Amino acid sequence: MIPAQFNYEAPSTIDEAVNLLAANPDDAKILAGGHSLLPAMKLRLAQPAMLIDIGRIKDLSYIREDGDQILVGAMTTHYQLESSTLLQKICPLLPACAAHIGDVQVRNKGTIGGSVAHSDPAGDWPAAVIALGAEMIAVGKSGERAIKADDFFVDLLSTALGAGEILREIRIPKPNGRFGHAYEKVRHPASGFAVVGVAVALQRGSNSICDSAAVGITGVASKVYRAGSVEKALQGNQLDEQTIAAAASRATDGVDANSDLYASEDYRRHLAQVYTRRALLAASARAV
Ligand SMILES: Cc1cc2nc3c(=O)[nH]c(=O)nc-3n(C[C@H](O)[C@H](O)[C@H](O)COP(=O)(O)OP(=O)(O)OC[C@H]3O[C@@H](n4cnc5c(N)ncnc54)[C@H](O)[C@@H]3O)c2cc1C
Repeated sequence: MIPAQFNYEAPSTIDEAVNLLAANPDDAKILAGGHSLLPAMKLRLAQPAMLIDIGRIKDLSYIREDGDQILVGAMTTHYQLESSTLLQKICPLLPACAAHIGDVQVRNKGTIGGSVAHSDPAGDWPAAVIALGAEMIAVGKSGERAIKADDFFVDLLSTALGAGEILREIRIPKPNGRFGHAYEKVRHPASGFAVVGVAVALQRGSNSICDSAAVGITGVASKVYRAGSVEKALQGNQLDEQTIAAAASRATDGVDANSDLYASEDYRRHLAQVYTRRALLAASARAV
């Protein structure tokens, strides 16, 4: 339970952090809240030679409105998102998702940037950010680039961030019109991580027709995914119980579901369908 030896740097600007990372691309790691990285280091699953602590960089922790977008700094903690009155009003999926993460201590230290950069297959944020159509803003030596959430999560613990890139910000389109959001989750009883977590963002048009639906599912496969078959089954159709039940039954179409000591593949598929239905019903009821 003792990590291998490492050097520690605490830059005060993002440029300094980028330079440190560029100088040590293979053996340095960014340290955010440390609630995924430090346990991995203690188990010697990760042995970085250098930690670049971005916790002292000013202005990496914020929640702001900017035109038709919501900007969230990478170092914003789960608790800050959970307790934001602005988000409760304009994008309630974010506080709802944050409230499901771990316990109070984890939510006080863990960050949204650390969670999405880690791409844990049972992490909660990845489901919410893909359902909301977010963009990840990465910064490296050659400047900034935006990566769509759909392209960001590459595989188990692997993202589209390059070796020298730092995730600086998450940009979320501001929901408008008759939108409804929900996050429904089965927690692992020991860790709190998602055995199955389903994030839904939908828009209701006239006559109760579903104008758009986005469904992000975590915990089921090696990485978070958009449940495309569910979304297609809803779009342009009435948001009634029958349509929602039929759509939810397709939650794991085309997906290789995980199996472990706690939940078999079949059980996970079943949970994904049940919790997708619940999340769709809740989101639909809110989209008034
Ligand atoms: C007991 C316990 C229970 C938990 N329960 C849950 C749960 O229910 N749901 C859930 O989703 N999570 C859970 N977590 C994980 C928690 O949410 C972590 O905080 C989160 O996954 C990682 O965020 P962090 O800020 O701690 O990142 P760190 O641990 O500091 O970093 C994680 C990884 O991301 C990289 N990284 C961090 N920030 C950046 C950045 N800005 N740019 C580039 N790379 C970066 C690091 O180098 C590292 O590889 C739990 C953790 C613990 C210890």
